[in-house]
Amino acid sequence: MRKPIIVGNWKMNKNNAETKAFFEAVDGVAASENATYGIGCPFTDLRTALDGAKNLVVAAENCHFEDAGAFTGEVSVPMLEEMGVKYCIIGHSERRAMFGDTDETVNKKAKRLIEANITPILCIGETEAQYDAGETEKVIREQLTGSLANLCPKCVANMVIAYEPIWAIGTGKSATKEDAQNCCAIVRDQVRVMYGDEAADQVRVQYGGSVKPNNIVEYMACPDIDGALIGGASLKEDSFIEIIEKTK
Ligand code: PGA
Repeated sequence: MRKPIIVGNWKMNKNNAETKAFFEAVDGVAASENATYGIGCPFTDLRTALDGAKNLVVAAENCHFEDAGAFTGEVSVPMLEEMGVKYCIIGHSERRAMFGDTDETVNKKAKRLIEANITPILCIGETEAQYDAGETEKVIREQLTGSLANLCPKCVANMVIAYEPIWAIGTGKSATKEDAQNCCAIVRDQVRVMYGDEAADQVRVQYGGSVKPNNIVEYMACPDIDGALIGGASLKEDSFIEIIEKTK
C-alpha cells in the first residue's frame, strides 16, 4: 500500500511571520494516519516551518549536490540535514527553465539527498510544445532515465516523483484526470524498466499542475496517482485545509 503524499510548493512566497501563521492554522488539520501532508518553503522559512510542524512534513525547494565550497547563494544537503529537513523538491520546471537545473545535476542532487536520508521529490514534465507534438511519453522516459540514473532500487522505491506538465503549472489549465493517470502510469512503468517491480510498486507518484480543492479528489482516485504537488492552492490556509479535508 502506498501512502498518499500531498505537498504544497510555496515557491518564492511568504516570510517568517506568514509561515508561522500558516502552520498555526493548518498543522492541526494535517493530522492523519492515511496520508502525509507537507509544505515546501523558501530556505529562510524552514526553521519557522519546522518549529511549527507537528503533523505537516517540511520540504526544501532545492539543494546543491556539493557539501560545501565556492557556490555563492547555494544551500547544501548537510545544511538541510542539520536543520532536520526530511524532504527536498528537486528539478522543478522553474529551476530547469530559469536556473540551469538539468537531468544530470538533478541526479547528483537525488544521490546526495538519499545519502542523507532526505526524501527527494523529483519533478519532471513536458512543455506545451512537446505535448502538442505528441512527445510526452518520450520526454517523461528521457527525464527519468537521466534523473534516476545509477541509484539503488530501494532508494528509488522511497522517493517521490512529481509529474507536472509545464503547461498546467500556474495556468489554471489542469490536465484531464485521464491524461494525468496515463502519464503517472508511464512514470511508474519507467521506474519498473529501470529498477524493477518492487521499486515501481512502492514509489509514490504525484500529479502537479493547477491542482485545486475542486479537482484534487478526482486525481487522487486515479490508480497511479499517489498525491499532488500544489503551488497556488497551497498558499492560502483555507484552500490547503480544504484539500487536506477532502483527502484524509
Ligand atoms: P500550481 O503549481 O499548482 O500553481 O500549478 C504547481 C507546481 O509548480 O508545483
